[in-house]
Amino acid sequence: MKYLDEFSNPELAGKLVDQIRAATTRRWAIMEVCGGQTHSIIRHGIDQLLPDEIEMIHGPGCPVCVTPLEMIDKALEIASRPDVIFCSFGDMLRVPGSKKDLFRIKSEGGDIRVVYSPLDALTIARENPDRQVVFFGIGFETTAPANAMTVYQAKRLAVKNFSLLVSHVLVPPAIAAIMESPTCRVQAFLAAGHVCCVMGTEEYPELTEKYQIPIVVTGFEPLDILEGIRRTVIQLESGRHELENAYPRAVQAEGNLPARAMLQDVFEVADRSWRGIGMIPQSGWRLSPAYREFDAEHRFSVTGIHTAESEICRSGEVLQGMIKPHECAAFGKECTPRNPLGATMVSSEGACAAYYLYRRLEVTMPETSPEKATIDTEPKATIDTEPKATIDIEAWVCPMPLRDSPNIVMGHGGGGAMSGELIEHLFLPAFGSAADAGMGDAAVIEVNGVRLAFSTDSFVVKPMVFPGGSIGDLAVNGTVNDLAMAGARPLVLSTAFILEEGTPLDQIAHVAQALGTAALAAGVKLVTGDTKVVDSGHGDAVFINTAGIGIVDDRADIRPQRATPGDVVIVSGDIGVHGVAVMSCREGLEFATTVASDTAPLHGLVAAMLDTGADVHVLRDPTRGGVAATLNEIAKIAEVGIALDERTFPIPAEVRDACGLLGLDPLQVANEGKLLAFVPSGDADRVLAAMHDHPLGIRAAVIGACVHEHPGMVVARTALGGTRVVDLPIGEQLPRIC
Ligand code: SF4
Repeated sequence: MKYLDEFSNPELAGKLVDQIRAATTRRWAIMEVCGGQTHSIIRHGIDQLLPDEIEMIHGPGCPVCVTPLEMIDKALEIASRPDVIFCSFGDMLRVPGSKKDLFRIKSEGGDIRVVYSPLDALTIARENPDRQVVFFGIGFETTAPANAMTVYQAKRLAVKNFSLLVSHVLVPPAIAAIMESPTCRVQAFLAAGHVCCVMGTEEYPELTEKYQIPIVVTGFEPLDILEGIRRTVIQLESGRHELENAYPRAVQAEGNLPARAMLQDVFEVADRSWRGIGMIPQSGWRLSPAYREFDAEHRFSVTGIHTAESEICRSGEVLQGMIKPHECAAFGKECTPRNPLGATMVSSEGACAAYYLYRRLEVTMPETSPEKATIDTEPKATIDTEPKATIDIEAWVCPMPLRDSPNIVMGHGGGGAMSGELIEHLFLPAFGSAADAGMGDAAVIEVNGVRLAFSTDSFVVKPMVFPGGSIGDLAVNGTVNDLAMAGARPLVLSTAFILEEGTPLDQIAHVAQALGTAALAAGVKLVTGDTKVVDSGHGDAVFINTAGIGIVDDRADIRPQRATPGDVVIVSGDIGVHGVAVMSCREGLEFATTVASDTAPLHGLVAAMLDTGADVHVLRDPTRGGVAATLNEIAKIAEVGIALDERTFPIPAEVRDACGLLGLDPLQVANEGKLLAFVPSGDADRVLAAMHDHPLGIRAAVIGACVHEHPGMVVARTALGGTRVVDLPIGEQLPRIC
C-alpha cells in the first residue's frame, strides 16, 4: 500500500464492520487511548457504523488537551519576557491559559516562533546567543525523543541559552489510573500505535493481566481502527485478555531502542498533573539531574505558578468515559473551540472539540439517527433534494463573536471565521454608510449601461516562489479570478509593490517577470501601479496588491445570494493542491511532493460554462480557508444548507497524505486555480460537459447539492457512510504536533 487513502477503503471497511457485527453478542465499552484515534473515529463516522452494543469511549491521549492549564500559564509568563524567544509547535499557540494564549502574547510583541522540530529551536538559540530560547516540550512518548535529543545536543554543544519547558506524560500510568477509578466502565483499550513505535509493547502485558482487559495496538486510519476493534471484540466475546499488535507495519515489541536509550539518559520518571484528570503518580517525565540546567521552569522561576481549572468543566468525566461531550451543559454554549473551558475542547483531537466540529447535527437531532439525517448527494448531476429530516436549527450554536483580543493576530487573515468577524464587527461598523452592503470579493457597478466588475486583492504568500508559481502569478490570477467569479472578462489591472529594504533585486525581477507573463497569459493589461519600500525587518521581501476591472457578461447574474435548494455544487478540479504546494517548501516544514500550485486564470473556463446557456447562480474561487470556508460563506449568505458527499471529492492522494501528515483538512486548504459553481440541477449535465472540455475543468465533479435543511450549514456524508459537519476554519491553518 502506497498511500494512506488505501487504509480508508470503504469496501474493506464494510467487511470489517460486518465481521464486528457478527462477533458482537453483548454490550462492550472500548476506550481508544489516543486523540488521533478519536479524531479519526469521529471524522470518518466510524462509531456510527458500529453495532449499537459497541460503545467507543474517548481516552486522554491528546497531548494538547492534557497539558495542564498552569503549564500554559507558565509558558505565557516565560514567553512575555523581552529577552526570550519562545518556540513551539503551532498547536500550542491557540491553547488558552487562564487569561491569554500565545497568539495574544505574539500580537503584543512577544517573540513567539512556530517551529517544526525542537532542533530548529536549538539552531535559533545558537544564532541568538544574547537571547534566551525556550522550547515548549509537551506530549506523550511520541514527541519526547526529539526533545531529549535536543537537550542532549544543547549540552554537547554547550548552548547555555537554550532550555526546555517540559510537560511530558506517559500512557501506561494513565491506563492504570483509568482502571483504578471506581466509576471506570472501560472493558478494553485500543493502544496508540505511535507511542508503541517508540516504547514497544513490553509495558502492556502487565496491565492486561492486572486488570483482566484486552489491549490491542492500532494505527490511526479507518481500517487500522476497525481492525483493532474487531480483534478487541473477539477477545472480549471469548473472555480473553491479551496484548495484540494490530499495527505490525510500524510497531515492534521492543520499540525504537536508540530512542528509548536517549529518553532514559535525558529524562526521569516523575509525578505529573493531567489536565482534566489531576495528578497521576509517576505518569510523566522531567529532565534528569544531569540535564536539569536546561529546565525552563527553574531557569525562569515559574515553578510557583498554580492555576485552577474551570469549575463547570466536566472534561475529567469525558476523559474517563463517564459522560459524552454533549452531556456537559457548557458544550457548544459557554465552551466552544473558540472559547474552550476545558481540556477536551482545546485541540481538534480532544473529544469535545471533535464532537463540536463534526457532530453538531447529531447532537441537535437527539430523536434522529445520523443516517436518517443525511442528505442524498449521489455523485451525479441530478440530485434528490427532498427533505429527509427536520433539523432543530434553534438548538444550533454559532461560534463565539469576535475573540477577546485587542490586537490583530495571524488568524484574522486566514479567510476563516476570524476574518469574517473582523469584517463584520470592525470594518463594516467603522465604514458606516460608506460601505456598500455587498462588500464581496468583486463589486459589480453599472456605468453608462455597462456592467463593470471591480476587485482588489493583496498577496503576502511565503515563500514567494513555490512549486508551480510565485507571488507574481498569484497577484495576477487572484484578482483576475475574483473578476471572473462575477462573470466578468478581466480588462486591466493595477499593481502595487511594497518592498522590504535589503531584498535582492534579482528576486524582485523574478517576481515582476512572473507577474508580466501571467498578465499576458490572462489577456489583461497592467495599466497603473505604485512602489513603496519599508525598512528592513518591517516587511517580508515583497508584498503585492493588485486591483482589476472587467466587463460582466450580459448573460451573467452570479451572486452568492442566488444559491437555491435544488442547485448542484460543482468543483472545477482537484482540491487543496495550491496550499500543499506552498506548505511543502515553507521554511522548516519542507517535504518532498510532486504537487505543484494550480494557480491559473479562470475566466476562460467561466466563459465556456456561460456559453452553454446555463443559468449559473454562484461562482467562487475557494482560496484562503479553502472549499470549507467558501461553502460556509455561501450557505450563510443565501441561507441554504449544503450537503456534500466525500466520495465525490477530487482530492489527489498526495494532497490527502500531506494533509494527513500535517493534521489538516483538505477542504480547509487554499486553492488558486479552482472554482466552485452552483447551477440548477437541470443545467448541471451541460455545464459539467463544457467544463470537462476545457483544460482547467477536466477533473470537474459534482460534490454536493444545495438543500432546504440545516440552512447556513455545510454537512458531508463521509466516505465510510457516516456524517460530519464541514465547519469554517477558525484561524490560520497550523500543522498539528504529532
Ligand atoms: S464541553 Fe467544554 S466545559 Fe464541557 S466537558 Fe468539554 S471541555 Fe469541559
